[in-house]
Amino acid sequence: MSLTEYRRKRDFDKTPEPGPSRRKSKDGALSFVIQHHLASHEHDDLRLELDGVLKSWAVPKRVSRKHGVRRLAVEVEDHPLEYGKFEGEIPKGEYGAGTVKIWDSGTWESESDPHEGLRRGKLVFTLSGDKMKGRWSLVRMRTEESKPQWLLTRLSKAR
Ligand code: MN
Repeated sequence: MSLTEYRRKRDFDKTPEPGPSRRKSKDGALSFVIQHHLASHEHDDLRLELDGVLKSWAVPKRVSRKHGVRRLAVEVEDHPLEYGKFEGEIPKGEYGAGTVKIWDSGTWESESDPHEGLRRGKLVFTLSGDKMKGRWSLVRMRTEESKPQWLLTRLSKAR
């Protein structure tokens, strides 16, 4: 169900991106990835694993590691787990045409039930990557739009 939009937007005969297969949730740590996407508009894509897919946000001004910095994060369609390993060139004319590179990856952990957090529009979480280490929050600002807008904020160390 949740990969329907991912499938609809892409022609897998033309794009090298992974197909829309959904994985069973596995035990253990959940993965995250930040992909730098040099498309018509340069941005970062933040993806957090949950329920066998990658919940995804496009961050137009790029993610920041500086404490207190806030960035707009536009919710986009769920991506398959395999997308977290994807780097490459999406051909001209295809959805998201341009270059995708992995900027950082690792594991993430929500400070409360992530399903409820996503539903309610507030997620506080820790990223353990090579570059991204520490706490961030995602807070939904507007829900009436087709692409819900969130605010991604780098939090201080103290809880
Ligand atoms: Mn993108």
